Amino acid sequence: MDDEQLMMELLRQIYDGVYMVDLERKILFWNSGAERITGYAAVEVQGRKCSDNILMHVNEEGTNLCTHGCPLHKTLEDGRSREMEVFLHHRDGYRVPVMIRISPLMDRKGNIIGAVEVFSDNSRLYSTRRKLREVEKEANLDPLTGIFNRRYAEKALSIRLEEMNKLELRPLGLLFLDIDHFKKVNDSYGHETGDRVLKMVAETLRNIIRSEDILCRWGGEEFLVAIASTSGEELEEVGERMRRVVSSCSLHVPSGPVSVTVSIGGVLAGKGETLASVVDRADRMMYMSKGRGRNLLTMEE
Ligand code: GH3
Ligand code: MG
Ligand code: MG
Repeated sequence: MDDEQLMMELLRQIYDGVYMVDLERKILFWNSGAERITGYAAVEVQGRKCSDNILMHVNEEGTNLCTHGCPLHKTLEDGRSREMEVFLHHRDGYRVPVMIRISPLMDRKGNIIGAVEVFSDNSRLYSTRRKLREVEKEANLDPLTGIFNRRYAEKALSIRLEEMNKLELRPLGLLFLDIDHFKKVNDSYGHETGDRVLKMVAETLRNIIRSEDILCRWGGEEFLVAIASTSGEELEEVGERMRRVVSSCSLHVPSGPVSVTVSIGGVLAGKGETLASVVDRADRMMYMSKGRGRNLLTMEE
């Protein structure tokens, strides 16, 4: 075997998929790794154009990259290497997630004469990552209401407090809400209706906050809302709106409509303050609302 044949064999037998195209994106070379990952034999694809849509690369959103932003085409134009995760079309019809790396091929004078794509099967990594994302998401959410749980809120709020200090942002505002006489709801209508009321309150609050705010179920019938970058007046306005809107909601059960009210405490985080300390102050303000007769918001002076 001469040197040239040896090099060809080496390329052919590399475990990853390797293929090469000329300037017209005609496939000149297709190795055994590419055959294994795609199911297409070299004789089926060599000589055909990659743009004939054999591989039909799509991105995660399902956009067809052959017609919209083919990475090979871009490399042939700008001579730059690129790397991305895409899905390719297997001969048997299904999609395979792959990591692709494209490099330009140049002649000795530096003119682009084609491109080479190396790709590897990403399916195991992809499914592990997807599972991890699902588990992470579940671990952060309260199963009953679907809003964040306390575990997540403690982490996220600590980060927000740190950010507030480091970046000298406007303060973080906290609203601590507790449903009034919730035990009575359970006692009068049953635990299941109580659960539905919790969901109704959570959904109501979710519709009031902005995307940068954080809403969580802090405890049984307690909710914590963190309002990003706020002022005392703004926080009071949001808290008042929450109190009003919750009191106007009702759940319809056979024995009639069920409504609840909330007592709320509102505070602004101080510079360098710990999360435990801000939450404790908000909780105390909430208890002041209870003491003052419930269905009230108390802002710290
Ligand atoms: P207050 O106005 O002083 O807050 O009175 P309250 O009855 O709301 O306060 P208390 O803390 O005595 O009772 C809270 C009740 O919330 C007791 C508990 O059974 C109920 N609870 C806690 N978690 C859940 C839940 O997930 N579902 C239902 N249905 N009830 C819950
Ligand atoms: Mg409570
Ligand atoms: Mg309560």
